[in-house]
Amino acid sequence: MQCRLVRGLAGALLTLLCMGLLSLRYHSSLFPQSMRETPGLSPPSPLSPELRLHDVFIAVKTTRAFHRSRLELLLDTWVSRTREQTFVFTDSPDEGLQERLGSHLVVTNCSAEHSHPALSCKMAAEFDTFLARGLRWFCHVDDDNYVNPRALLKLLKAFPQTHDVYVGRPSLNRPIRASEPRPHNRTRLVQFWFATGGAGFCINRKLALKMAPWASGSRFVETSALIRLPDDCTVGYIVECKLGGRLQPSPLFHSHLETLQLLGAAQLPEQVTLSYGVFEGKLNVIKLQGPFSPEEDPSRFHSLHCLLYPDTPWCPQLMAR
Ligand code: UDP
Ligand code: MN
Repeated sequence: MQCRLVRGLAGALLTLLCMGLLSLRYHSSLFPQSMRETPGLSPPSPLSPELRLHDVFIAVKTTRAFHRSRLELLLDTWVSRTREQTFVFTDSPDEGLQERLGSHLVVTNCSAEHSHPALSCKMAAEFDTFLARGLRWFCHVDDDNYVNPRALLKLLKAFPQTHDVYVGRPSLNRPIRASEPRPHNRTRLVQFWFATGGAGFCINRKLALKMAPWASGSRFVETSALIRLPDDCTVGYIVECKLGGRLQPSPLFHSHLETLQLLGAAQLPEQVTLSYGVFEGKLNVIKLQGPFSPEEDPSRFHSLHCLLYPDTPWCPQLMAR
């Protein structure tokens, strides 16, 4: 036992040394300064089983009406740290966005409306693009989410690679029920947990591949229509009812359906996603002193970004020291 442990340690040390040398080489030669700044943004190494941001696919769902009002805020803040990983799924072409995002802007054929089929159509495009790119994790967020890449990586790293993982914030405090049509005009009542899409969720590749028979191509929209529920519910249905998996609940994902003020400033850096919105005529946002005033930064995302990444050029200099 002891012998195996010692051999294991020696092997691990050797691997670490090789990984270190390899990543040093990559860092110093292949990648520009901007990519070296964000932890985890280095090329995938076949020797390294440790997850890096490079292994994560982040899909942002948006629509034409929000290109200016919501998406630009994301591009200026967290997306600037995850440019290589982030793909934006919309319903209408946009020259300005195309210029900023290049091939990372995906103009789907989905219609620009808030209907179940339209939203499921975008989720299907996100899922298919993820499958085609071969990355290790699929994460979905809405265009009113802030994603903290450091916290996201820390969360995903903690999952054993051998497991199927579906992680996010449960939308309700109980499973949702749906009626599943069966042959001969029968129906079956099913219940399952699902992660609320407005807080974001992640699925590892192992699980995503198993979901393909219900989620790839036109099948996601068909599955969603079958149970007559929206896209995020459909993901939960496929994982739990079709595959026997379980949603792994995480309190680190946040939508504007919860009271965001309740999060303490000290907790903010650990959160994987945050959001903002209007509830009963009042802004529902995280509580953060500065550096920007609520008037200049109503969503608080600029202030949050400076708290998390003070070396950002547009953050006040004082914070960068
Ligand atoms: N959305 C969309 N098409 C629409 C309306 C909304 O794709 O016609 C997207 C929007 O960009 C966002 C998500 O759906 O990513 C949720 O929209 P919103 O935040 O407006 O509504 P919520 O469901 O959070 O109240
Ligand atoms: Mn929203």
